[in-house]
Amino acid sequence: MKNEGNHSSKSRRSRQRDTILATLRGTKAHPTALELYESVRQEMPRISLGTVYRNLKWLRERGEVLELDYGATFSRFDGNAAPHYHFTCQGCGRVFDVAGPTTHTLEREVARGTGFRVLSHRLEFYGLCADCQ
Ligand code: ZN
Ligand code: MN
Repeated sequence: MKNEGNHSSKSRRSRQRDTILATLRGTKAHPTALELYESVRQEMPRISLGTVYRNLKWLRERGEVLELDYGATFSRFDGNAAPHYHFTCQGCGRVFDVAGPTTHTLEREVARGTGFRVLSHRLEFYGLCADCQ
């Protein structure tokens, strides 16, 4: 993370954002905004859920975090913004990172087949984790 100088000179707003980002980067659980809010509150009891949502949006727009959108239900957030895939356990609902390379061949094939300009892609695996098998 970049050095922003004397800690005491930092605004409350940027300290909140740093705490949210550090908390998200410190977990592999891919928390929802509400779950992240519950964790951040341990450190910053006065923070509001709205502040967490606003900062997640800000961080996402700058590519610092990933939002995994699960449609009508909710989003999960990921402090690891590097391209990677996920496995969702249909038993316990946990979301895991999948190690290994991501493929851009797929994007080229879709672009060629459709004429679309493909900017990114997302690949989700589903099944049962080791605990749930
Ligand atoms: Zn499971
Ligand atoms: Mn992830």
